[in-house]
Formats: sequence, C-alpha cells, structure tokens
Amino acid sequence: MLPIVAEPTAAAWVERAGAVPVRRLADEVEWALTVRDGVAPIAPPPPGASLTLEDRQLCTRPEWEFPDAEVTFSAPVAVVALFRTAILAFAAHAHGSLIEGLESLLVHVKSEWESQPRHRDPVFARDRWRCAVPICTARRELHDHHVVFRSRGGGNDRENRITLCAWHHLRGVHAGRVRAEGEAPDKIIWDVGVRPGRRALLRLVGERYATS
Ligand SMILES: [Zn+2]
Ligand SMILES: [Zn+2]
Repeated sequence: MLPIVAEPTAAAWVERAGAVPVRRLADEVEWALTVRDGVAPIAPPPPGASLTLEDRQLCTRPEWEFPDAEVTFSAPVAVVALFRTAILAFAAHAHGSLIEGLESLLVHVKSEWESQPRHRDPVFARDRWRCAVPICTARRELHDHHVVFRSRGGGNDRENRITLCAWHHLRGVHAGRVRAEGEAPDKIIWDVGVRPGRRALLRLVGERYATS
C-alpha cells in the first residue's frame, strides 16, 4: 500500500486497509496505481466497487505509444510500484508520455552513473568493492585499512592493505573488536568479537572458518 499513500489520502487508505482482506486491498492499490493521474494522490475506490478498467482509461495514450515490442520483468509489488511511480514522475515532465518518461528516466540514471568518479583504487578493485570482513557484505563507505597500522610501521604495499566498511574499520578494527593479521587479500586471519583474556568469538582465515 505504501506506494499509493500520500498525505491527503493516507487516512482513507489506512481505514480501507482495516476494512478489506489483503487480496482485495492489493487489487485496489493496483487499480489506483493504474487509473490515477500521474503521481497525483488518489483516494480508495468506493467500497466494493468494480475494479474493472474501462477501455477509455486504457486508451488515453496516443496510438504511436502502443508498443511493437514488449519487455516484461517481475519484481515484488513495491518495486514495481516504485518503478512505475518513477516513470510517471519523469513522464510528467514529458507531456505525460510514458515512453518518453521511461526514456528520460533511463537517461537520468545513466548520466548519474557515469558522473560518479571512476576510482581506480587498486585495493578496492582487488577486493571487489566490498568490505573484506568475511561476514560482512557492505559495499558503501569503504575504507583502505593498513593491516599493520601505519603507526606501527606498516607499509603501503598492497599486501598490507585491505578494504573495510566504515563500521568494521572504525568500530571494529580500530576499536579492538575485530583483529586482522596476515597478508591481504586471501591470507588474512580475522578475529571477530575480540574479548580481553578470551578467545575471539569467531576466527576466519580468508573466507573460511578456522576450526581451532
Ligand atoms: Zn585502519
Ligand atoms: Zn564490514
């Protein structure tokens, strides 16, 4: 229901959500997404109303907008609704044309993507742009950590550098909760959950759990 709720109609939708079965609610949301004008807020249909779309509503597009090819994909309903909302938002700037909306959405995404600075960071690239802590999947806010700290004489060569997410870097390694020793990238021995006077909760060598 999230994609359809806007300030002026929220109360009505919330009330409807409490009044009808989930399946009917999903149908009503689907209906509202289809018939609403662009991204304008739309109230729920009258209770029990038929949700059959009239031809008129399906035929408001100019002839040339009907496709000669079709691309289909499936995704969770929230993703589909978000995608549709994005297309409609772009279409609003393209005289309401859906196909031009989609096109300018794609152009926008492409130029955003290409405007990102192209890092040629050899350490991040080697570690495939993700935190190297084996239990972590973070790909954002990556830091370049020196396995032997620079403050302890650690060198700048790549075997001494490893990609960590900000959390594992600052709250983990430099806060003493995570220990990394050895040669990057594959021979690092990770101790996760380091506790004073006791064995760490988890020890991994590269991507493997160490059993001892
Ligand atoms: Zn560091
Ligand atoms: Zn991490």
